[in-house]
Amino acid sequence: MLIVPEREIADLMTREAAFAAVEKVFAAMAAGDAYNFPVVREAIGHEDALYGFKGGFDRAGLTLGLKAGGYWPNNIAKHGIINHQSTVILFDPDTGKAKAMVGGNLLTALRTAAASSVSIRHLARSDARVIGMIGAGHQARFQLRAALEQRDFEKVIGWNLHPEMLSNLEEVATEAGLPFEAVQLDDMTRADVIISITSSFDAILSADQVAAGTHIACMGTDTKGKQEVDPRLLTRAQVFTDEVAQSVTIGEAQHAVGQSLVSESDIAQLGAVINGAHPGRTSDADITLFDGTGVGLQDLAVAAAVVDLAVERGVAIEVDF
Ligand code: NAD
Repeated sequence: MLIVPEREIADLMTREAAFAAVEKVFAAMAAGDAYNFPVVREAIGHEDALYGFKGGFDRAGLTLGLKAGGYWPNNIAKHGIINHQSTVILFDPDTGKAKAMVGGNLLTALRTAAASSVSIRHLARSDARVIGMIGAGHQARFQLRAALEQRDFEKVIGWNLHPEMLSNLEEVATEAGLPFEAVQLDDMTRADVIISITSSFDAILSADQVAAGTHIACMGTDTKGKQEVDPRLLTRAQVFTDEVAQSVTIGEAQHAVGQSLVSESDIAQLGAVINGAHPGRTSDADITLFDGTGVGLQDLAVAAAVVDLAVERGVAIEVDF
C-alpha cells in the first residue's frame, strides 16, 4: 500500500490538476460511469466532533474508496492542529485490497475550490469581470484563488458576517493584482459571478441582490439545516449541482425543494453540461446557480491524481500491508 502524507500534498497537487480531476469525475457521474455512496455523518458524542464517510466508485477512472473525517472544534485550542481532519483511502477495484492512504485536509480545500471553478468555467458569462465573495474563512481563500483563473476578472468585492476576516479575501485579490472592495449585500448586484462559502444556517443573500446574468456558486451548504441564499433565488435561476440526491437533502436546494418552490427534476448535473448533454446557460440574462454539496468522488479523484504524482516524484511511502 502507498501512503502520501498530508505534508507532501502542497508540493504535489496543483489547482490545475485538481480542476482536471474534478471536471472529469463530474462528467463521469453525469454519464452514469461513476456514482457516490450515501453520505454518513454522525455527531459521535465525543469532543463535539462530527465524523463521517463519503465514498464512491468511478468505473471509468477505476477509482474506489472513501474519505473519512470531519470536524473537531477543539483541535486548534487543545492540540494545535486544524479542526477539519480527513483521510482518503483508495482500494483496488479488482481485488478490494487497500491501495493508498492519502492526507485529505488540503485536498478537500483544493477539490472544493475546483468544483466552483468548474461551474464558473462552464456556466458563467464569458465577459464576467466582477467577482463577489460571501464568506472569508479558510475555504474562501482557496475558492477565490481558483475562481480568478476562470475569467478575466478585474475586481473582487466581498461581504462577510465578520468583517475583520475580509483581509483574507483582500490578500488573495492583491496577490492576483486585483482591487478589492468590502461591500454591503445589496452591492452583490454588481457581481457577474458570486461564490458563497460560509457556515451559515440562515439565508444571507436575498433573491433581488443577484442581477440577471449572474453565475452563483453556493458552496457552504453541505449539511442538513445549513443555508446561504433565499430559496426564491432558485426559482429565478437555472439550477445545477454536483449530485442531485445530495443537493435536495444536504445542499442549498434542500430549502427550495422543502418549500415546494422547485422540484428535483428542475436541478441538472453540472457534469451533463461538461458532457454536452445539457446546454447550460442559454442567454446572457440567465442566472445560473451551482449547488456544490461536495461529493466523495471529488475526493477520490484528487487523491488518485496525487498518488500518481507522488509515485512519479518518488515521495510515496510504500508499506507492506
Ligand atoms: P471557516 O470557519 O474558516 O469560515 C466560516 C465562514 O462562515 C466565515 O466567513 C464566517 O464569517 C462565516 N460565518 C460563520 N457563521 C456565519 C453565520 N451565522 N452567517 C453568515 N456567515 C457565517 O470555515 P470554512 O472552512 O471556510 O468552511 C466554510 C463552509 O464551507 C462550511 O460550512 C463548510 O462545511 C463548507 N464546506 C463545504 C464544502 C463543499 O464541498 N461544499 C467543502 C468544505 C467546506
